[in-house]
Amino acid sequence: MVEKPFTNKIIVITGATRGIGLACAMRLQKEGAIICAIQRGNSKLFDSFGCDLSNEQDCHKSINEIIEKYARIDVLINNAGIMHESSIQDTSLENWNQTLAVNLTAPFLLAKFCMPFLIKSKGCIINIGSIEGIGANPNHTAYCSSKAGLHGLTRAIAIDHGKDGVRCNAVAPGWIDTELNEEFINSMPDSEHFRNNIGNIHPLNRTGKADEVASLVSWLASSESSFVTGQVYTVDGGRMAKISLPKS
Ligand code: NDP
Repeated sequence: MVEKPFTNKIIVITGATRGIGLACAMRLQKEGAIICAIQRGNSKLFDSFGCDLSNEQDCHKSINEIIEKYARIDVLINNAGIMHESSIQDTSLENWNQTLAVNLTAPFLLAKFCMPFLIKSKGCIINIGSIEGIGANPNHTAYCSSKAGLHGLTRAIAIDHGKDGVRCNAVAPGWIDTELNEEFINSMPDSEHFRNNIGNIHPLNRTGKADEVASLVSWLASSESSFVTGQVYTVDGGRMAKISLPKS
């Protein structure tokens, strides 16, 4: 029998209760991993560690509990993220700080707390960034800043810890059908029109599925990508490759 690629691997993932995080966790579990899921809500599918990622003590406690229980960490996936709709003038310092706390500071803290164990296991980190860390949608001041920062953090970790055998990469999804985007569509003045047209802006003429992000994450977490580090991979149906023209 062929052994599954992640048999006995301890994979820590944030935000595994829904959306992209859930798809990644399910795929890696199917491939043999033991999933430690970190988020505020409880997950019945995985070993769940309750944590508000905007709280440093919570982040530390979760990693300590995982180490007490499993004594190793092979992969850290910083997936959880939040998005507020506002231009710079409408962004309160509170919203800015909250977005940066969950989307950028938590990945920094978790990477820091996991690093001694990742060095031992020659493990890796995968950060879920965004095409909004490369380009920008309107009214995403804090979100875009946090995702660009996360791409920078990815490269910084990769170059400092390559010598330790620890790889670090980011995945930058485009439009993926999840609750986060459903909320965004519902906030639009004409949500039906938006929903019917969002697929058209993609060369592949459709939006993406969480499983399509999970397959790249699985590859980056595996030894198949053993010479890959410090990279940001877009998974966006070709959206970033398209230069816009006025309608003729
Ligand atoms: P969802 O909103 O569907 O899920 C977010 C997850 O993060 C939930 O499991 C939630 O769990 C957790 N979470 C949110 N806030 C906190 C917090 N303070 N502490 C702990 N956990 C928290 O998001 P998606 O699946 O759509 O997105 C996942 C990642 O992918 C995000 O980083 C997002 O920015 C990124 N992304 C998504 C895209 C898309 O099109 N969907 C496009 C580009 C990037 P709980 O509420 O239980 O805490």
